[in-house]
Amino acid sequence: MTNVQPRADLATLPSYVPGRVIPGAIKLASNEVAGGPLPSVAKAIGQAAAEIHRYPDTGCGELTERLAAKLGESPERIAIGCGSVTLCQQMIQALCTEQDTVVFPWRSFEAYPIVTQVVGAQQVRVPLTPGHAIDLDAVAAAVTPTTRLVFVCTPNNPTGTLIRKQELNRFLDAVPTNVMVVLDEAYWEFVDDADAPNGLEIARERENVAMLRTFSKAYGLAGLRIGYCVAPEHVAAALRKVYIPFSVNHIAQAAAVASLEAEDELFERVRVIKDERIRVRDELLALGYDVPETQANFVWLPLGERAVAFNEHCLSHKVIVRAFAGDGARVTVSTPEENDVFLAAARSFSR
Ligand code: PMP
Repeated sequence: MTNVQPRADLATLPSYVPGRVIPGAIKLASNEVAGGPLPSVAKAIGQAAAEIHRYPDTGCGELTERLAAKLGESPERIAIGCGSVTLCQQMIQALCTEQDTVVFPWRSFEAYPIVTQVVGAQQVRVPLTPGHAIDLDAVAAAVTPTTRLVFVCTPNNPTGTLIRKQELNRFLDAVPTNVMVVLDEAYWEFVDDADAPNGLEIARERENVAMLRTFSKAYGLAGLRIGYCVAPEHVAAALRKVYIPFSVNHIAQAAAVASLEAEDELFERVRVIKDERIRVRDELLALGYDVPETQANFVWLPLGERAVAFNEHCLSHKVIVRAFAGDGARVTVSTPEENDVFLAAARSFSR
C-alpha cells in the first residue's frame, strides 16, 4: 500500500471512451475520414520523419504563418495544439480557476466535462432542445457572474445540428463580454448551410469569441494530433503560455502544412461525404429512424434505451458505431461502400 494518492475528485472523473478498433470491422465510431494520407502528405511525413532526432519547432512557426495567410489573420491570434481537444483544456487552464464555471450544452463533445474537471473548474451542463439542437437561450440563461467560458459546438457532436447565424449573434449579444465563448468548429469543412455562422469572422468581430478547428477530420490527420485556435491576441498568448513545450510534434506540423496545400484533393473526399450524409439520413428516415438533420460527417440516432442494443447489433454486422447508453448512437458517414454495410445493419435491427 502506498501513501501517495491521486486527487480524490478524480474518482468521479469519467474516462474518455475512444472509438473501438476491432480487426476486420468497419469503424464508424470516431468521425474520421476514410482513406489514408494523400501521396503529397505521405511524402511530407516521410521527410519530417528524417528529423525526429531533433525537437520540433515549439512555436509551430511555419504552420502558424501558413494558417495566418490562408485565414487572413495575424499569427499572434493563432495557437496550435495537440488536437483541438488539447486546446479546449488549454483554454480552461488559461482562463479559469477553481471557483470559475465553464458552461456547455449537453449532450455535446464528450471531452468538455472531462477537461473541465481535470483542470479543476466547475461545470454547468445545459440540456439540448427536444429536437437535439443546442438551446442557446438556455445557455445564455445559465451564464452567471462566475462563468468564464462557454463552449458552443457547431455542428454539435454528437447530434450534428447546426446553429444559425442570427441565433448565434443574438446569443453573443446576451453574453457578457468578460465571458469567453469558444466556437468549436471541428466539423466546419463539412458545413454547407448558407445560414451557418463562420466562427472565423465572428472571432474577428467580437473580442470575447474564439474559434477552434482541427486537422483530424476533413484533413484526415486524426492520428497525428493537431488543431488550431483563432482567438484575441492576449488569449492566444495565454494558450501558448500553458502549452506543454514541444508537444505538437514535427511530423504533425509538416503533415498539416502539406494538407493545407492539398485542400482541393482532401475536400473532394468531403464532397462525397456531404452527398452520402443525405443518402444515409434519407434511408434511415425511410426505415423509420428519427435522425436530426446533420451538417457534420456523422448522423445521430436518438434511440434512448435501445442505443446499446443497436451498438451490439451493428457490431454483430462488423460495424463499429458509437453508442451513448440511454441516449443514442452516433454513426460516422463514410464511403458509399462502408455506409452500405452500416445501412444493411440498420435495416435488420428491430426496435
Ligand atoms: N471538438 C469536437 C466537437 C470534436 O468532435 C472533436 C473530436 N471528436 C474535437 C473537438 C477534438 O478533435 P481533435 O482533438 O482530434 O482535434
